[in-house]
Amino acid sequence: SHSRLQAVAKAKEAAESGAPTLFDKIVSRQIPSTVVYEDDKVLAFRDISPQAPVHIIIIPKDRDGLTQLSKAEERHTEILGHLMVTAAVVAKQEGLVDGFRVVVNDGVQGCQSVYHLHLHLLGGRQMNWPPG
Ligand code: 5GP
Repeated sequence: SHSRLQAVAKAKEAAESGAPTLFDKIVSRQIPSTVVYEDDKVLAFRDISPQAPVHIIIIPKDRDGLTQLSKAEERHTEILGHLMVTAAVVAKQEGLVDGFRVVVNDGVQGCQSVYHLHLHLLGGRQMNWPPG
């Protein structure tokens, strides 16, 4: 939608300022969320605007320059792998035995609205292809 695209453009500006992200505030519990999984490196919590019966956001607690996937470098290999393994663990915990979808939105054309790398774990209904 138009307002979504405006939010997406604004978010990119905020990211470039280096300010704490919305997700940093979720990690610090400054903003409440429903946490479904946590360890020393990652946090998984329910999306505030779910696009499927199960819609969970999985983030690195320490952003370490990973505002978006396109900023990934060699040093991020371990955390990126850990995020994917966490998606599998949480999918199992949520009972998504018939499949699920993992999405990473990158940048303006990817419709990214929070510049703190995150996986979307979506499930609990039949997904379709292509995405919008
Ligand atoms: P993106 O659009 O950047 O790929 O995904 C950001 C996601 O964060 C969106 O799906 C949006 O609904 C979710 N989100 C935005 N603000 C909040 C919030 O305050 N709490 C939670 N739990 N999710 C949020």
